[in-house]
Amino acid sequence: PALPSARFHTTVAHLRQLPREGLPEVAFIGRSNAGKSSAINALCRRRRLAFSSSTPGRTQALNYYAIGRETDPPEGFLVDMPGYGYAQAPGEVRRAWDVLAGNYLRDRPPLRAAVLMIDIRRLFTDLDRRMLGWLPSRLPLLVLLTKCDKFGTAQQTAARRAVLAELAEQHARPDAAVVLFSAENRKGVDEARAIIEQWFEA
Ligand code: GDP
Repeated sequence: PALPSARFHTTVAHLRQLPREGLPEVAFIGRSNAGKSSAINALCRRRRLAFSSSTPGRTQALNYYAIGRETDPPEGFLVDMPGYGYAQAPGEVRRAWDVLAGNYLRDRPPLRAAVLMIDIRRLFTDLDRRMLGWLPSRLPLLVLLTKCDKFGTAQQTAARRAVLAELAEQHARPDAAVVLFSAENRKGVDEARAIIEQWFEA
């Protein structure tokens, strides 16, 4: 199914609310401000499907976006995970996040693949590394190096090489795809969309 058909489906705040139909899911993961909502909106060619994790009142919940012909029942879901790494988040919020996201990522049979957004200026943080540790290694992984328009071509290439090396050497993920991505100038958008759409079809 084509990503531009994506529309809001439901919000899941507790594991018991997860959809039971077993339709394929692809999770979007990233620390707050990594550019996750901008990436989702660019991939789905929408302006305001996903909301920034800096939006006031945003809850710690999984947002489900349905994929497939709009007149038909959903064929699959993009799962927008809450952004992590807010310095101000109280311990209680962080613990709730860990329970929801940790359990979801480690044990969700319909989960087909994951997209991790990291800011090209920061690369991996310890919290991103924790997410990688939770993801079952059988799941295909796409890393988007977001906001790549902030760097020149040589710096972009160096950043991508460093991320590929860390994925292979420290996370045993030599299979992961790493795409230079900009929601601003659209670099990498078509390439990333093609990878994600193929996961839903596989
Ligand atoms: P989220 O918190 O991960 O959902 O991140 P947002 O998508 O809200 O983006 C966080 C900040 O980064 C915002 O100020 C965006 O305008 C900015 N941003 C997002 N994507 C890009 C990009 O491709 N290029 C540039 N230059 N800035 C971006």
